[in-house]
Amino acid sequence: MRIAICVKEVPDPTAEKRIDAGTNRLVRSGENTLNPYDRHAIEAAVQIKEGPAPDTEITVVTVGPESASRSVDRALAQGGDQSVHIADDAAAGSDLLGTARILAAALKRGGYDLILLGQQAADSESYVMAGMVAELLELPCVTQAASIELGDGAVTVKRQVETGYDTVKATTPCVVSVSDAINDPRYPPLPAIMGAKRKPHEVLSLADLGVDAGAVGAAGAGTSVSGLSKPEGRGDTIVIEDDGSAAEQLVAFLIEKKVVA
Ligand SMILES: Cc1cc2nc3c(=O)[nH]c(=O)nc-3n(C[C@H](O)[C@H](O)[C@H](O)COP(=O)(O)OP(=O)(O)OC[C@H]3O[C@@H](n4cnc5c(N)ncnc54)[C@H](O)[C@@H]3O)c2cc1C
Repeated sequence: MRIAICVKEVPDPTAEKRIDAGTNRLVRSGENTLNPYDRHAIEAAVQIKEGPAPDTEITVVTVGPESASRSVDRALAQGGDQSVHIADDAAAGSDLLGTARILAAALKRGGYDLILLGQQAADSESYVMAGMVAELLELPCVTQAASIELGDGAVTVKRQVETGYDTVKATTPCVVSVSDAINDPRYPPLPAIMGAKRKPHEVLSLADLGVDAGAVGAAGAGTSVSGLSKPEGRGDTIVIEDDGSAAEQLVAFLIEKKVVA
């Protein structure tokens, strides 16, 4: 079985975000990391390989600048066998559809049976990449997978929904985005981290994939961020500055609100 996992490098979720005042876009030059939600997709693929389909080949696919290779290595250390990295200056500024076009071109070329994504990217949090990629590839799409069971030419996916679970069967090849409840991703041991660099890495340009540079990147973006604003402050919010008495102030507040006696 051939599995592709789409992974994205994102700004470290714990670091302060900066916005480029000229473009209103996120500044991505600081501390970056593998999108934490994608680790669940990698784990799901590794569990398939360790379980029902040992002959599985796992390919990690990313669209991003050269520096995203660190996150690719991290994904390979977690269990990927090889990577495809589309790194092209003309891809910078791609909106969702632009990114989906590039991913779809790379995925089409690979002829994968199962294409896995995370449920969301920790920076843009659109939750729609799986649907867009599936539409462009004309493949079935199942989102929010809480479990994936392999069948003969099909997968059965339990989907997490508000009221419980839906069970959906999709023929392969298909696209599945996994919920963060599907598993607990493993932390790769040191030898796996060291070995990741020696795994096959393929770096491709837009031209290698036959993607029109005018249809992606800033040039092809049909959307732009027209403004950014902080959420309205909540009037009753009290911020306690810790001058050494924060705990006492907090307890006094809770007693005043009759939360504790
Ligand atoms: C005008 C504009 C300009 C932008 N410029 C940039 C830019 O320069 N660089 C940039 O990174 N983003 C840029 N973005 C944001 C960009 O649209 C999204 O990062 C990207 O399309 C994916 O959306 P998401 O991360 O919200 O996807 P989601 O749907 O939240 O992600 C779900 C899953 O999709 C997969 N995925 C998402 N993105 C990638 C990727 N790049 N490679 C592989 N797998 C992926 C992952 O598996 C992820 O878990 C821009 C957006 C706008 C509106």
